[in-house]
Amino acid sequence: MAKIPAIVWLGIGAGVSYLSLRVGGNFTFFFYFGLVFIGIGVARILLSFVFRKKESRLEKRVIPRELPKYFLCPKCRAQVHAGTNFCWKCGRRLR
Ligand SMILES: [Zn+2]
Repeated sequence: MAKIPAIVWLGIGAGVSYLSLRVGGNFTFFFYFGLVFIGIGVARILLSFVFRKKESRLEKRVIPRELPKYFLCPKCRAQVHAGTNFCWKCGRRLR
């Protein structure tokens, strides 16, 4: 349910309300049902805007600068990935 895009909710809502209005009579319930779907679609669009803004703000705060991904082995000067414990070339322990 979380992956249904807002436009689908809007589409279903518009379709259901339109059809119920055309049919009329006992189908008035479905008109309100359609309105609820439209409401969910609009709410999802608004929420996605709010969350996008919050995320971009958090990213700036949490990641102040990029850490270097590689460094040079002190023994053989080979380029070693920052996450590894041993040099891939000479086997020297790095931490
Ligand atoms: Zn090395």
